[in-house]
Amino acid sequence: MKIAIVGTGLMGRILALELSNTTHELSLFDKHDADAHTSCLYAGAGMIAPSCELEEAREIINQLGLQSLQVWPQILAKLDNPIFYQHTGTVVVAHPGDHEELIHLKEAITKKSHVTEGARIIGQQELSELEPELTPHFSQGIYFPLEGQIDNRAFIEVSTKTILSRKIPWKTNCNIQSLDSHTITHDNETHTFDWVIDTRGLGAQQDLNTLRGVRGELIVVRAPEVHLTRPVRMLHPRYRLYVVPRPNNIYLIGATAIESQDLSPISVRSTLELLSAAYALHTGFAEARILETVVNCRPAFSNNLPKIMCSDGLIRINGLYRHGFLIGPALAQITVDYLNNNSINSLGKAVMEI
Ligand SMILES: Cc1cc2nc3c(=O)[nH]c(=O)nc-3n(C[C@H](O)[C@H](O)[C@H](O)COP(=O)(O)OP(=O)(O)OC[C@H]3O[C@@H](n4cnc5c(N)ncnc54)[C@H](O)[C@@H]3O)c2cc1C
Repeated sequence: MKIAIVGTGLMGRILALELSNTTHELSLFDKHDADAHTSCLYAGAGMIAPSCELEEAREIINQLGLQSLQVWPQILAKLDNPIFYQHTGTVVVAHPGDHEELIHLKEAITKKSHVTEGARIIGQQELSELEPELTPHFSQGIYFPLEGQIDNRAFIEVSTKTILSRKIPWKTNCNIQSLDSHTITHDNETHTFDWVIDTRGLGAQQDLNTLRGVRGELIVVRAPEVHLTRPVRMLHPRYRLYVVPRPNNIYLIGATAIESQDLSPISVRSTLELLSAAYALHTGFAEARILETVVNCRPAFSNNLPKIMCSDGLIRINGLYRHGFLIGPALAQITVDYLNNNSINSLGKAVMEI
């Protein structure tokens, strides 16, 4: 079948990689460059955290996330080069005065899902084995062993190379003016396909009037004095902080969730809160160097759940909100199954609208 994928951010790219293993004739389109600088894919922290996200998300996000954790290694194995991806869990800590927060989090998560295998409250001994630099300031935490993370920037670079080496036609800097069943229009010309797949994220707002943007801000630092080995979250009654380690002492410190579509640079308030929280987590961040600040708006429906909307010759996948890395591979699998076999499994039934 001739399939057009419109939007090669996170969802469009995963889908293109999955569909390029089949016999379909793919064409990719994006408004911007293949380096994806303006997409949420570029801004993301790359955490794959099916348990931690349950604090606010519904159980279906946990199920899609667990499925994605199986699929990510298969996607990455087929890329032209290896990239940084690890599956060593997440550690959540709170200062001694905030230990109640840990208990509330654990209860909230277990209430929503039975599949948080191995998640446990840990004392100073286990914490010091997992992340030695967090003790003695922290004496308790929760360990979620099932979680992972991916380097989103490396994924952009290597997925671009792989898509190009597979000779898939990819029109970049091409603004799709409109799309519909079987058709897309750009440069005032209409083109026909068996299927059009709309993965424009927030760019699809003109067609999806309940889609909104949720602003996220993140700070990238180089911190030679910090040696954390896995994503660490810190609970505080007023805010939530995460610190995500990347190779070469790079750390992502994030992220805010603000009900706004404002794409202007990071605010002073967010900068102060994120950096002082990072310093409260690890004093080694005092001598870190700020490399970059990142802002983008996550595409979300009112219930913050994703949707795959299917009609004749048109599939729209959107509303990935703060969970694109967590659920993208599972959504891609559901879509590929539908396209290839017209089949819908139980996860598909939960997210598809036909
Ligand atoms: C600060 C921040 C941190 C995040 N951290 C995480 C995390 O740790 N874990 C996680 O799971 N998720 C995270 N997310 C969320 C994740 O990044 C998003 O859910 C995901 O990127 C959304 O994917 P998407 O493909 O729908 O949109 P995008 O990745 O934004 O891609 C949309 C693409 O469509 C293109 N496009 C738009 N309009 C048009 C048009 N008219 N014609 C052609 N092309 C068009 C755009 O150029 C873009 O390339 C984070 C997001 C932010 C902002």
